[in-house]
Amino acid sequence: MAQVISDRLHVFYCPHRVIFGLNSSRSVGSEVRAIGGNKPLVVTDPGVVQAGLLEPVRKSLQEASIPFVVFDKVEPEPPARLVDQGTEVFRENGCDSVIGLGGGSSLDVAKGISIMATNEGKVLDYCGVDLVKRRGVPKILIPTTAGTGSEITRVFVITDEAENTKKVVFSPYVLAELAIVDPLLTLSMPPKVTADTGLDALVHAIETYVSAGATPFSDILAEKAIEWIARYLPIAWSKGSNLEARYYMSLASTVAGMAFGSGGLGAVHGLCYPLGTEYHMSHGRSNGIMLPHVMRFNLPGNPEKFARIAQLMGCCTEGLSLMEAAQKAVEAVEKLLESIEVSYRLRDYGIPESDLPKLVEGGMKQSRLFVPNPRDLTEDDVRRIYREAF
Ligand code: NAD
Repeated sequence: MAQVISDRLHVFYCPHRVIFGLNSSRSVGSEVRAIGGNKPLVVTDPGVVQAGLLEPVRKSLQEASIPFVVFDKVEPEPPARLVDQGTEVFRENGCDSVIGLGGGSSLDVAKGISIMATNEGKVLDYCGVDLVKRRGVPKILIPTTAGTGSEITRVFVITDEAENTKKVVFSPYVLAELAIVDPLLTLSMPPKVTADTGLDALVHAIETYVSAGATPFSDILAEKAIEWIARYLPIAWSKGSNLEARYYMSLASTVAGMAFGSGGLGAVHGLCYPLGTEYHMSHGRSNGIMLPHVMRFNLPGNPEKFARIAQLMGCCTEGLSLMEAAQKAVEAVEKLLESIEVSYRLRDYGIPESDLPKLVEGGMKQSRLFVPNPRDLTEDDVRRIYREAF
């Protein structure tokens, strides 16, 4: 699809280096000194430790004679207090660098600790765009899920427990010195985590592709990610040991992170956040539930791109009008969700329809995400989309 030529500038954000491949995590020991670290804090969560994923990292650091400290207290949808707590552990132990190991929750806390190690105050003081004053300590990010792309992006997401909402810190200082993506670390994901995180990657790719903030870079990356996820997510979910499926899901998640990190998100993310904070639903699942409903609403805003998504997801669009072809993209997403047994109906998650006002209020708090959305949203539109999601 031809890019509209305008005087808009396209900025591409990415870590200094990305190492992708089987067994790449074994190189972490030799990479710590290359990023200027001598004593890293390894930031992870109990589930990642229990899955045995800390072991290859521990071994690699020991073989390279690098002393390290482990902070394994990360919780899903991490509260801001964990970043402040981890920063205290970092300082008390005289650490000088950070290794994030885990899903998006662990990587985001690792990014936060890296920033708070060199900046004053509490992490919630820095939520917003470009409020971070100093570069953080060097960091290596190693994902163990295939979904968030957090290893790539210049943002981290934390929960403000007092306001019961998720907040985001945007800063180029958040970008990692090194991302190490090893598909082998994702083999142990159970089917539900595989489904939820894979849907997060799909939402990143689709939202960015149709977004008003899309760039030539994000288009190229998002197209490939959509194609790989449509093909490999059902296989990775069905057979966790399928290496080809895990390999392409890791690749898709990483390139989707590169895409949305530079191209913006949209209303799926805005409307999914209240599901996470109110009902403790995983980030990927809440994204997956909202995806077809928001896509259907958005169709008139970018029909060419939606029609292309349908093709990338394997639909035949020959002989169809543009809007009919665009509609096929919504059907393809619904079929994908059904194939991995993810309901896109809020009622199936025990959420009463009487909670609609609470959802609308929560969704409207995230209206900054409506700006790049391909169709403008009013409060009435938000209500309508949630109502349809029931
Ligand atoms: P997660 O990090 O919360 O992990 C989910 C569960 O899976 C945890 O219990 C964890 O222990 C377990 N797990 C992780 N890897 C495993 C493995 N290989 N084997 C077995 N169990 C494993 O989930 P997530 O979806 O990766 O991250 C969600 C968080 O990421 C949310 O807070 C979201 O807001 C954030 N996020 C951040 C960005 C970003 O760019 N910074 C982007 C998207 C999402």
